[in-house]
Amino acid sequence: MIKSQFSKENNGEGFDVDNRLMSSLTIEEDEAENSLRPHTMGEYVGQSKIKKNLDVYITAAKERKDALDHVLLYGPPGLGKTTLAHVIACELGAQIRVTSGPAIERAADLAAILTNLEKGDILFIDEIHRLNRNIEEVLYPAMEDFSLDFVSGKGPMARSIRLPLKRFTLIGATTRAGMLSSPLRDRFGMMLRLEMYTPEELTDIISRSSRILGIAIEPAAALELAKRSRGTPRIANRLLRRVRDFAQYEKLDTINLAVTKKALTLMDVDELGLDVTDRTVLEAIIDKFAGGPVGLDTLSAATGEEASTIEDVVEPFLIQLGFITRTPRGRMCTKNAYEHLNKPYFDL
Ligand code: ADP
Repeated sequence: MIKSQFSKENNGEGFDVDNRLMSSLTIEEDEAENSLRPHTMGEYVGQSKIKKNLDVYITAAKERKDALDHVLLYGPPGLGKTTLAHVIACELGAQIRVTSGPAIERAADLAAILTNLEKGDILFIDEIHRLNRNIEEVLYPAMEDFSLDFVSGKGPMARSIRLPLKRFTLIGATTRAGMLSSPLRDRFGMMLRLEMYTPEELTDIISRSSRILGIAIEPAAALELAKRSRGTPRIANRLLRRVRDFAQYEKLDTINLAVTKKALTLMDVDELGLDVTDRTVLEAIIDKFAGGPVGLDTLSAATGEEASTIEDVVEPFLIQLGFITRTPRGRMCTKNAYEHLNKPYFDL
């Protein structure tokens, strides 16, 4: 389990890794999610292009007995970035240390984490775009030359000291590759963009998860859930757990299509997978701003949703569906969105 890897360590040179710093990263994780996480490339469904590339790089790194080049994983939440980082570690037979951008408050915290890494270790930094700029600078020499630069003393006595680090691999994950500074982005040898999953891939994930949860599911029910999961494994697993509750309540030993549809209707998830928040955003653009264009902050104020939630969580799928377009003047709803919400559309 991931949590057991957050051990308090001391490398004998007085650098103490703060346990809280390392464990606060799993903020959005829960035990249920961890239990469904695949551990090997074979279990990791979909993302075939990424897996093919990684297979080559991992095999080559293992043959050379060298650390894998630094990897940046990007894409909307719940697509499997954290999972893939753990899979890479497992395939390399490497130890993984996990932290996140907002959890690292001081440059010294990051320095302590880096000096505790062993040769070949993986350091996973989630939400790396939220790393403070002056902390980020510690990473530049660490990633490029495997060294830490710091200044000892003050004024005329100040001396620059360079401390060597073991060769490690940094895996960064972000929902916003565009928010990364270019010096940081340039230091990643691989930038891998995770794609949304097809209903068939999500059906595989749901079938695997139901086996782990110990409940049978009819193929038609798994496909129905998959189609309503917005291309996202985390949502597929979440819906599966809720539908399992409904099935259990109705004393069913297999999740069938009828209970699946009933549960999804009660959860307000429509046939395309849109939920209340998606509909609120679409309705606001249509009803309050005549279909747009409307700026992100205005939309956020009109819906009561955080701008970052709209941008990272809500919008990617609505754009993928062709319901929203992004223009330089703001977001606009397309005819498809009007039709889906049964609203009259006037082409002006
Ligand atoms: P992210 O870090 O991108 O937000 P996670 O890696 O936490 O997403 O994935 C969320 C959940 O979805 C995980 O708990 C895992 O069970 C499931 N999952 C993600 N990607 C896959 C995949 N490719 N195959 C199977 N399950 C997956």
